[in-house]
Amino acid sequence: MKIAFFDTKPYDKPSFDKYGEKMGVSFKYFETKLTEDTAGLANGFDGVCVFVNDVVNAKVIDKLCEMGVKIVALRCAGFNNVDMKYAFGKVHVLRVPAYSPYAVAEHTMALLLTSIRRIHKAYIRTRDFNFSLAGMTGFDLHGKTVGIIGTGKIGRVFADICRGFGMKILAYDKYPSDNFADGDNIKYVTLDELFAGSDIISLHCPLTDETHHIISEESIEKCKRGVVILNTSRGALVDSEALLAAIKSRKVGAACLDVYEEESDFFFEDFSGHILEDDTLARLISMPNVIVTSHQAFLTEEALSNIAETTVQNIVDMIEEEQCENELCYRGGSAKDCKNGKCF
Ligand code: NAD
Repeated sequence: MKIAFFDTKPYDKPSFDKYGEKMGVSFKYFETKLTEDTAGLANGFDGVCVFVNDVVNAKVIDKLCEMGVKIVALRCAGFNNVDMKYAFGKVHVLRVPAYSPYAVAEHTMALLLTSIRRIHKAYIRTRDFNFSLAGMTGFDLHGKTVGIIGTGKIGRVFADICRGFGMKILAYDKYPSDNFADGDNIKYVTLDELFAGSDIISLHCPLTDETHHIISEESIEKCKRGVVILNTSRGALVDSEALLAAIKSRKVGAACLDVYEEESDFFFEDFSGHILEDDTLARLISMPNVIVTSHQAFLTEEALSNIAETTVQNIVDMIEEEQCENELCYRGGSAKDCKNGKCF
């Protein structure tokens, strides 16, 4: 089994080589992203393995089909970069639904603590032997209310962590879980109630037409003054221009972003010697109360190993068994998990 691996980073190879060798899958690693221009590299392969910023649109899917490439193995959970409707009946789209919700939830809390306790400032100051505490006053998380949008795997782990800090939780999910709210410290509320009642808002829902810009000028208006926005989910959940304006007006007290709407042009690459062309990103990064990491939340040893193992298993299942429990398919107007793998 031969798979063309796109958007390769050095940390991908060890675990994919390990599980590939074990299960008879060989990977050809390409540094370039999968796009209409690079899709031809997949000629002669059984499938492609792609990440969050590879493009799997109609044109790419057509090219893959022309070359007889039938498998698109996502090495991530989100699939907003795949035209699922167009893919239906043409290619098998496989994903890794869960690899370590802890990795992302823990990174979210790391960002929050860094921001509100000014750790990013303290690190720079003390390295410069500046031991002044001026401007370093933070606030306690204990007793504060966090609004969690999306109470799936990551949202729930983040809620557990927040509970450990003695925080109250307001939750919103399009499909609330029966056994999550406890009526006391964790309550499901409407989106507007969550905006109005939260000191901190953390996004853990997928990017869909409905959730696109769920944090917008309008929704920020409904929030408490000084609210902290955390986004470790997908960039386009937040209208970056609206966020920037709200930071300038002091309506938003701080923002921690592991993802950014236009991240595919920048994230995962070294632009340190260049002039950053994206003024909104540059301005956000320049703010003392904004922390940006470049889609790093997933990056733990445990997650990398789990991602590789599941991705390789998905490919083997699809090729050998013609079915895979982690296949996605487009049904009834929304992309849903395909439980039996018999999509097409
Ligand atoms: P999940 O599928 O377990 O949970 C998503 C939750 O969102 C579900 O409970 C679902 O019902 C809810 N949801 C769906 N539509 C909604 C809507 N319109 N409004 C509110 N809630 C809605 O997914 P997960 O594993 O918890 O991952 C959450 C997101 O985190 C993923 O979609 C992905 O974009 C992101 N993610 C980011 C990283 C990173 O490195 N930064 C890594 C993994 C996942």
